[in-house]
Amino acid sequence: MKLLVILGGGESGIGTALLGKEKGFEVFVSDNGNIKKKYKDVLIHNEIEWEEHLHSEDKILNANVVMKSPGIPDKAPLVMQLIEKDVSVVSEIEFASKFTEATLIGITGSNGKTTTATLAHHVLKNDLDIGLAGNIGDSFAKQIFEENHSNYVLEISSFQLDGIEDFKPHIAVITNITPDHLDRYDYKFENYINSKFRIVKNQTKEDYLIYDADDEVISNWLKVNPVQSTLLPFSLTRVIDNGAYYKNNNIYITLNNNQIIMPTANLVLKGNHNIKNAMAASTIASLLGIRKSAIRECLENFQGVEHRLEHVLKINKVQYINDSKATNVNATYYALESMESPTVWIVGGEDKGNDYQELFSFVNEKVKAIICLGVDNEKLMNTFGNMVDIIVETQFMSEAIKIAYKVAEAGDNVLLSPACASFDLFNNYEDRGRQFKEAVRKL
Ligand code: ADP
Repeated sequence: MKLLVILGGGESGIGTALLGKEKGFEVFVSDNGNIKKKYKDVLIHNEIEWEEHLHSEDKILNANVVMKSPGIPDKAPLVMQLIEKDVSVVSEIEFASKFTEATLIGITGSNGKTTTATLAHHVLKNDLDIGLAGNIGDSFAKQIFEENHSNYVLEISSFQLDGIEDFKPHIAVITNITPDHLDRYDYKFENYINSKFRIVKNQTKEDYLIYDADDEVISNWLKVNPVQSTLLPFSLTRVIDNGAYYKNNNIYITLNNNQIIMPTANLVLKGNHNIKNAMAASTIASLLGIRKSAIRECLENFQGVEHRLEHVLKINKVQYINDSKATNVNATYYALESMESPTVWIVGGEDKGNDYQELFSFVNEKVKAIICLGVDNEKLMNTFGNMVDIIVETQFMSEAIKIAYKVAEAGDNVLLSPACASFDLFNNYEDRGRQFKEAVRKL
């Protein structure tokens, strides 16, 4: 029996364990931290061997194949040892994709993955047997084990892509590429870009790459690195003959000389970034033969995803918006860009080496007050201190909301779009977003 070792007992690890066991592997799950109770219960119930708070090297080094959870860096000593021993170390999407014939739609990028994947799934699910997996909800491996759909939309991080060998999506999407997670890429943006483009590495000309043609990082990379895939760019700014573009409140999608036109005036999702996400999702849907009327209806009734420019409540004519998932400057750029009235902006957290310059014009134009919400707010105070009349700092969400409530006037927005990670004050971005919503509801 071949030994499958799984490093990391989280969502992708447990899914891989179930699938691996079903496919005849001896499975061993090893986590050097805690394994959550719900996952332990699954392992025990399925009689899968596991350990936590340690890695038993003698066992692990005997593996035939290792699935490494995306949270574990390639540079972890145990992983280096495995690679030295020529053991194949792969990611969950690589392992799982070997056991399905399904059509795969892989969505990667620095921002917009979840929104685009969820929207694409929403548009496709009435017509196709399709699962939504990857970084969203149940893992891909678990879904193959339990449901075995004939199509999947997968949200794929660069860490998952680092661990692929044969993974080949029929349709790949790169939403955009801006610097992120550079600590895992030797602080070289180039390495991170290459990692994102691994999504096309096994594609042929029968497969498609949908991407943001306005993103210079993407188009420059494609100029020097020709790919096999059929290219379907989308653009907000120029006409695209094969792909999608936006003009005068319409999305134009052209595939094989067939054009469909989709009005955007009735989209619930606001902002230019969401037009891009809608272009990507409707290009996927057109490729898979979904009728225009169905695409249009689904685009218009899609309500968005929690913590992404989520409209929470209107109190005294002030709109409270939760964009807690904006953990980098680029996401916040699009949030501020989409604000149509004066805005009280709640920002801050764990700074990942942010350069705030690209936000300056929006801050000057739209932001009437800034509330810095982090352990260390010095950089924000120094950067924006001269730009707005009111700038304050706090380390409590409840206090941030009380201040916002006092400062905001009828017609204004209160926007939580932190541009930073949440871990200094919160468990994660979901916790931060929930606390925001609770505090707003208590007003
Ligand atoms: P990801 O899964 O890549 O983190 P999300 O869809 O969760 O992306 O969105 C993360 C943040 O980025 C949110 O603040 C959201 O409003 C913003 N965002 C969504 N789509 C885009 C896009 N195409 N470009 C830039 N920012 C985006």
